Amino acid sequence: MITKIKDLSRLCVHTLTTKPWDIETCVKNYAATGIKGITIWRNVLENKNLTDVKKLLDDFDMEVVSLARGGFFPSVNLEKRELAIADNLFAIEQAAAVGAPSIVLVCGADPGQSPEKSREQIAEGIIRILPAAAQAGVKLSIEPLHPMYAGDRSAINTLRQANEMAEMIHSEWVGVAVDVYHLWWDPTLKAEIQRCAANNHLFAFHVCDWNVPTTDFLNDRGLMGDGCINVPEIRSWVEEAGFQGYNEVEIFSDKYWATDQHAYLEKIKYAYLNYT
Ligand code: ZN
Repeated sequence: MITKIKDLSRLCVHTLTTKPWDIETCVKNYAATGIKGITIWRNVLENKNLTDVKKLLDDFDMEVVSLARGGFFPSVNLEKRELAIADNLFAIEQAAAVGAPSIVLVCGADPGQSPEKSREQIAEGIIRILPAAAQAGVKLSIEPLHPMYAGDRSAINTLRQANEMAEMIHSEWVGVAVDVYHLWWDPTLKAEIQRCAANNHLFAFHVCDWNVPTTDFLNDRGLMGDGCINVPEIRSWVEEAGFQGYNEVEIFSDKYWATDQHAYLEKIKYAYLNYT
């Protein structure tokens, strides 16, 4: 049994969690409240000088956990698949520039073809960008998404499918991001977490909660403790399997975005310390 670290030292917040804030505001306010880890969503890097962003992160001693997001490889259209490759290569450059050791992949799906075909194209896409990722020293984390997104966001919907793909690609640069929002319902979750870690593929751990009832499939995620996910139990599985990375708070919530973001950060810290 591993003793859970009950302080903020492994707390990471995704910039999209505090969507109203730009990158400067995120970094300054996270640092001011004792948060050490940040996962940067690419929207806050648009039109930014990445050297300046890197300096800002360094000045505030903020550790970049990951860049979000790459992926969206599948399409019935070849030209779109090539555009996705180019965009992922650009994401690798951005990750390297801001010091992100990994990129989260929302792998994609095209409703015009079968999930199997989309998964083939996902594997092809990852293999295409792998040399650039390795060259840049940036890891790629396959994030399985809840099956409600199987039509258009990801054809990888279970941790088992993500594990199988990472094992098939078999590279130290390709692993998996476990997000409780997408995977909490899966009866094989604990065993697949152990499998993932045993293969050194457990790269990232994302937390939030599943509101009941959920009112929006994209932007109604809960803060830990709001909903029905047993986050501490899943965290214990992840840590007992050997994961020592950050716990990344990733919450898309129209409700919380409409509130004061400073107060919200304090709520996040409380929920992290008490319900994670
Ligand atoms: Zn996630």
